[in-house]
Amino acid sequence: MKKVHVFNAGPCLLPQAAIDNAIEALRDFKGTGVSVLSISHRTKEWDATMDECRALWKELLHIPDTHEVIFLGGGASLQFLYVAMNFLERKAAYLDTGVWAHKALKEAQGIGNAYAIASSADRNYSYIPKGFEIPGDLDYLHITTNNTIYGTEIHEDMDCPVPLVADMSSDIMSRPVDVGKYALIYGGAQKNVGPAGVIFAIIRKDALGKVSRYIPTMLDYRVHIDKLSMFNTPPVFSIFVMNETLKWLKGIGGVEAIHRIDNEKAGLLYDEIDRNPLFTGTAAKEDRSIMNVCFVMAPGYESLQDEFFAYAKECGMVGIKGHRSVGGFRASIYNACTAEDVKALVSCMQEFAKLKA
Ligand SMILES: *Cc1c(COP(=O)(O)O)cnc(C)c1O
Repeated sequence: MKKVHVFNAGPCLLPQAAIDNAIEALRDFKGTGVSVLSISHRTKEWDATMDECRALWKELLHIPDTHEVIFLGGGASLQFLYVAMNFLERKAAYLDTGVWAHKALKEAQGIGNAYAIASSADRNYSYIPKGFEIPGDLDYLHITTNNTIYGTEIHEDMDCPVPLVADMSSDIMSRPVDVGKYALIYGGAQKNVGPAGVIFAIIRKDALGKVSRYIPTMLDYRVHIDKLSMFNTPPVFSIFVMNETLKWLKGIGGVEAIHRIDNEKAGLLYDEIDRNPLFTGTAAKEDRSIMNVCFVMAPGYESLQDEFFAYAKECGMVGIKGHRSVGGFRASIYNACTAEDVKALVSCMQEFAKLKA
């Protein structure tokens, strides 16, 4: 296989062990003689995988007994609707930190009264708004902890006087989280914990059941909690690979260990961006994401952008094109991306700068 360095924003790079075990399970799921693609989800072998996956989520994130974790299809984008359906009665506020946050707000506005409590749209979402007042009469406040497109991140679990709901699609399992502070944490697996096709939702059970509307069965978190994510056919293969990814994470020391590694990786790349005269970062320094590192050509060097793309491609870099709304470059350095991958990108930037000096 061609040797490359993958910085795709999602679906993400996955650990090799997860891929190897997935290949084996495609042939033979746990010695059953049946492929994981054909296994019935009503078997004890599958139950064991489901239980293991649930237990790993709880162990790795120290999820308290007040909360349950479920796995569903439909993508994080469908969760935008779930949130409003299950929690919005009178009024909800959204922190507008980017395209995903905005889409989440739009879905809520289709259901009821929801508004942006603060926004960083004025500077193309390059920072996290701070110092806004949170009214005590909200059903919930919705935040997007990592803004995948802009490379900004809320690094701490905020104290919130109302139920706190967080889209953690792109930074889940990259840092320890005080789960008790959240009514709901959700996200698509494909940014950091598995392949596309499955979402996770960590829900404080007593936060449910407070809305008066009829909630369609499939959109009702209580149904999926009761049925242990098996009300209907779960995304079997995606959950299998997610479980393998979490086993890998546990094996290297869990969330605490990966947090150190992720910080080191991000540090290497941001140091180079700050040092190298050809490049400049786009996100406010204090809000820089440790998952998605966004940068552009520095003023005066803009014309070199295409040349750097071509050069980086030669060096084996995959997926470093920035999102079209930001331009430039984005290196997504999720958990399975190694320090070696990041170092290869850093040397590629250094070599390019030498060529152009
Ligand atoms: C990718 C992403 C989404 C959308 O996820 P889908 O599973 O494609 O619907 C939502 N929120 C954030 C923060 C994302 O990065």
